[in-house]
Amino acid sequence: MKTILKIQYIFTFIILIISTNACSNDSEDEFIGDKIEENITILQEDADALLFMLEEEKLARDTYSILYEKWGLNQFANIKKSEQTHMDAIENLLKQNEISYTILPEGVFNNKELQAHYDTFKEDGAKSVINALKIGATIEDLDIKDLENYVSLTKNNTLINVYQNLICGSRNHLRSFMKGLEKNGGTYTPQFITQDAFDAILNSSQEQCN
Ligand code: ZN
Ligand code: ZN
Repeated sequence: MKTILKIQYIFTFIILIISTNACSNDSEDEFIGDKIEENITILQEDADALLFMLEEEKLARDTYSILYEKWGLNQFANIKKSEQTHMDAIENLLKQNEISYTILPEGVFNNKELQAHYDTFKEDGAKSVINALKIGATIEDLDIKDLENYVSLTKNNTLINVYQNLICGSRNHLRSFMKGLEKNGGTYTPQFITQDAFDAILNSSQEQCN
C-alpha cells in the first residue's frame, strides 16, 4: 500500500513539472518563434514561389550571358554574376526545405512563359545595344514586380528576407541598365512596376545589399 502511494506521489509530481513547463513555454512563444517556424513544413504556395523565382533568376542570368557574348559590355558580365548569387540564395532555400528542383542547361527553362521570354530577349537583344540594355531593364522591372508580389503573399520570414535582398539587387541592376541606356541615347518605360516606384528607384543611389 505504501509503495503504491509513493508511486502516486511521484507521478503527480512529474505531471506538475510537465504542466509547469508547458505554461512557461506558452509565455515564451514569441521568443522561440524562429525555432518553431523551422519545424513547420513549408507551404505548397511558398514552394511553388521558390521554384518559379529560381527560374526567373536563371532567365536573368542566361539572358545577360548571351547579351554579354554579343555586346561585350562589362555591365552584363557583372550583373550575370550577381544573378548567379540570386539563384544560389533561392537554391539554398529549396535545399533547406527539401524541395526537389532541376536547373536546366543555359537557355532552357521548365516554365513555358519564361522560355518564351528568353527566346524573345535573345532575338531582340541581338539587334542593337540599346535593345540589349532595354531587355536588362525589362528583366529587372519584372523581377521586382514578381518578388514584391511573393513578399506580399507569404508569411514566411526567411523567404521574405531573401526576397527583399533580391529586390535590393534588382534595384541596383535597374539603375545600372538605365545609366547605360542614357549613355547610349535610349529610354525605357516601366512595364510591370508603377511609374512612381520606378522613379523612386532611379532617384535614389546604389544600395549595399546583403
Ligand atoms: Zn536577380
Ligand atoms: Zn537582376
